[in-house]
Amino acid sequence: MTTATLGSPLPVMDPRSFEADERTEEDPLDLMDEIDRLKKEKDATILAHYYVDGEIQDVADFCGDSLQLARDATKVTTGTIVFCGVHFMAESAKILNPEKRVLLPDLLAGCSLAESCTYPALKARQEELKAEGRDVVTVAYINTSAAVKSLCDWIVTSGNAREVIEDRVPKDKEILFVPDQHLGRYLVEVTGREMILWPGSCMVHEIFSLTDMRRAKKNNPGSEVIAHPECPQNILAESDFIGGTERLKQYVMGIEEPRTFLVATEAAMIHPLEKAAPRHTFIPVPGIMTDSGETCACNRCPHMARNTLQKTRDCLRDGKPEIEWKDYFDPAKEVLTRSLLQ
Ligand code: SF4
Repeated sequence: MTTATLGSPLPVMDPRSFEADERTEEDPLDLMDEIDRLKKEKDATILAHYYVDGEIQDVADFCGDSLQLARDATKVTTGTIVFCGVHFMAESAKILNPEKRVLLPDLLAGCSLAESCTYPALKARQEELKAEGRDVVTVAYINTSAAVKSLCDWIVTSGNAREVIEDRVPKDKEILFVPDQHLGRYLVEVTGREMILWPGSCMVHEIFSLTDMRRAKKNNPGSEVIAHPECPQNILAESDFIGGTERLKQYVMGIEEPRTFLVATEAAMIHPLEKAAPRHTFIPVPGIMTDSGETCACNRCPHMARNTLQKTRDCLRDGKPEIEWKDYFDPAKEVLTRSLLQ
């Protein structure tokens, strides 16, 4: 295995410069019908992350967070999986289903977090810590490439990280947590375990400003802030509820009385929240708000937004782009299975 095959970086995009690429002019309803027809014809199942456009979630067979989708991927009975999400998620689906064909509507759908921790950089850090005589267990957030996963002891999602760290990582070991420093800091707080944190962050969650969030709260009296633990500490400190996307959904579903929620995570998450608990009002916390109250599209992930109905249709129809099996998927499979499925 060479570092060249492991290090091929996906482009990092500035969300402020993002413009929806190649948006279709085809009628979305026609596209949705065509996708339904192609799914049957091509023996395919669509998995969609909560951060892709709502219309894609509506044609998907399974919608969820990374943990749920990784588990759902193992229940698929069709020969093909179309993964509407980002590259590392489709890799995980392939790793857990080697015999199936896994398609990703756009191979350039990367992730700023995954890109912040490359195979050579993590390997070098692990060797450095070993040379210092430190007994370290590497725990990786699922937002990492398969190559990086192959170097790790445990893979966690925001949905199961606390449980894995508390119940499965021996207390006498040091933890190297990669790649999200904010999630890592939050886990240090809730588990009481010291960790060596990798300096990565998500380009979307990183950009919420505390001032803008306070302003949104002031403009919506009685509202509650619900936040993803990928947000920086100053945002989490002023949030009323913190959890991964699935936990956020369960939380609002459990509240009967209509309420207004300010949502500090990727803005497409509003779609499943509205579907699950239509009695509430959901307002995305803006990425940046100007004095005049205008907001930018920074709370949309440009990588997730590479998934469109048109590309989903095209990839179903053409059977590509496909995630090909790589030699480092074998060790990644071992750690993924142990961490998420057992
Ligand atoms: S929202 Fe952030 S963590 Fe999620 S895929 Fe986009 S860049 Fe990665």
